[in-house]
Amino acid sequence: MAKVTFFSGQQLPLEMHKVRIIQKLTLLPIEDRLRAISSAGYNTFLLQNADVFLDMLTDSGVNAMSDQQQAAMLIADDAYAGSATYTRLANKLVELFGMDYFLPAHQGRAAEHILAQSLVTPGSIVPMNYHFTTSKAHVTAMGGEVLELITEAGLEVTSDEQFKGNLDITALRGLIQDKGAEAIAYVRVEAGTNLIGGQPLSLANIREVSAVCREHGLLSVLDASLLADNLHFNKTREAECRDLSIPEITRAIADCFDIIYFSARKLGFGRGGGICIRDEAIYKQMRGLVPMYEGFLTYGGMSVREMEAITVGLDETMDEDMINQGPQFIEHMVSELVERGIPVITPAGGLGAHLDAKRFLDHVPQQEYPAGALAAALYLASGARGMERGTMSEQRDADGVEPLANMELVRLALPRRVFTLSQVNYAIDRIDWLYHNRELIGGLRFVEEPEILRFFYGRLEPITNWVDPLVDAFRRDLGESL
Ligand SMILES: *Cc1c(COP(=O)(O)O)cnc(C)c1O
Repeated sequence: MAKVTFFSGQQLPLEMHKVRIIQKLTLLPIEDRLRAISSAGYNTFLLQNADVFLDMLTDSGVNAMSDQQQAAMLIADDAYAGSATYTRLANKLVELFGMDYFLPAHQGRAAEHILAQSLVTPGSIVPMNYHFTTSKAHVTAMGGEVLELITEAGLEVTSDEQFKGNLDITALRGLIQDKGAEAIAYVRVEAGTNLIGGQPLSLANIREVSAVCREHGLLSVLDASLLADNLHFNKTREAECRDLSIPEITRAIADCFDIIYFSARKLGFGRGGGICIRDEAIYKQMRGLVPMYEGFLTYGGMSVREMEAITVGLDETMDEDMINQGPQFIEHMVSELVERGIPVITPAGGLGAHLDAKRFLDHVPQQEYPAGALAAALYLASGARGMERGTMSEQRDADGVEPLANMELVRLALPRRVFTLSQVNYAIDRIDWLYHNRELIGGLRFVEEPEILRFFYGRLEPITNWVDPLVDAFRRDLGESL
């Protein structure tokens, strides 16, 4: 990706790749979109992909592969044990991260499972910059407690802070002083902090975390699932990284940790995961769990084809022109939205653009799921599918009380190398239209509310009759352009 100044003076992202395989998309007329979202219970997770024009639900496992990755898949070595494919992947990880040991796992959460089983004991604490759903679930399932030590700026929706994912070092020191280092299972740092809008940590902050961990003999763990975006932001936003290559920044980050795990559904443009480990004793401690839960040590539940693709994908992650595509599209989207006065998380992060539904729909109370309602309305207005990240994604407590989320976000993920700029511009335009008609959008309530993971399977309905007037307004303003 390059950013090019056009003759008009506009600076726009310019793709440094060409598309050689395409998938046909359909943009259903709004009447059909209405039918689709109502039969999906106004939950974008329950939409059929065939009914979706731009799938911005997630970046997980849906990034586009390169010709090099596809070519590598043909030479995959299908041996149960001793596969050359495994050796290539393990060697690549040693080369990039400088850690001697690698354990494969079928995806990121499987790596988290192995980590938590080996390291978390009941009552132990796992401090982190911010939780990710599956990382927290595995820690708590082992009886551990997650403590989030994100800096204050991290939870501000709009900010000028360039590294909103930074961990609060003072809070970490305070925690160690209060509870003692023995109470802490490990310190987890999440690159490209997912749930607060794909926000990065600085290399400087990572070094400080590492220094505190080493001072107190604490294990430091990096969740590198969203490392690619983080590397781009280190390079472009941090003075000390400006003159370093991406592999040099990668190694400087890796040097700060004892363990690095990742979801290769994000990192490496593939599908899979794994754990890189510095210390042999820890490796041996975790190793036994892989054949039990994942598969033999040379594939860990991954297909060898995917492993080859990941090996090449990791190399592509070291190429600035490849990893800046996502962040530059997102930056374009965010700055266009900001220019139109539309509330969105700033500064732009990785992963996607995040609409602030609390402000977008400030007339819809949090109990009526403004982010869920906005995601449903956006599908109606555009055929684009985003993900609710707000109160709907929370779980009721033991007394059935529903906690209100810190933020009400609609995440519009931009999977890497998938969309064109005109598709992104179309989404921006439809969001703009919705913003002008936001008063028409009302709240949702559950008609079927599963006890766990209600946001995945739950079905909802509009509380008032707001959908038909919204569809009418769309037909009036934009109906003919379809
Ligand atoms: C996606 C993700 C995971 C989990 O990975 P899966 O491959 O989906 O299981 C863990 N951590 C972060 C930061 C993620 O974004």
